[in-house]
Amino acid sequence: MDSSTKNNFRRVLAKHGQRYTRQRDVVFSIVSKTAAHPTAEKIYLEARSLLPSISLATVYKNLDTLVSCGLAKRVSHVDGSSRYCCRSDPHHHATCLGCGSVSDIPGTLGAEELSKVHTQARDFTITGYELELNGYCPKCNPSSFS
Ligand SMILES: [Zn+2]
Ligand SMILES: [Zn+2]
Repeated sequence: MDSSTKNNFRRVLAKHGQRYTRQRDVVFSIVSKTAAHPTAEKIYLEARSLLPSISLATVYKNLDTLVSCGLAKRVSHVDGSSRYCCRSDPHHHATCLGCGSVSDIPGTLGAEELSKVHTQARDFTITGYELELNGYCPKCNPSSFS
């Protein structure tokens, strides 16, 4: 993490009444530096090489903290696992039904679609949204198998 990312990380944690810890730092850094949307187990394997004493339960707890502070997003995967993303710009998640990869699709819904969603939601107050897209990545695209 560069120093401005690190300062922001500490600030957001403090705002949510959470302490900065080395474990949180490591978990956040691992998820931030990849676009692969790793599972908690994958994050754990990598975290262990930096912090040999860290446990999988600790990784889960730290991920929960990051999600509750808005520093990470949990992406539910078609295979039932949870993947994690620390990208903060608005984007949607596209899951490949072939290889299971999760990619980021930058962008937001148009104002018109959003206002329709708000109308449908009636008395539910929407604070955020995320599209989950399913399909095939370029490697798995069935139409390229001919
Ligand atoms: Zn993402
Ligand atoms: Zn694929």
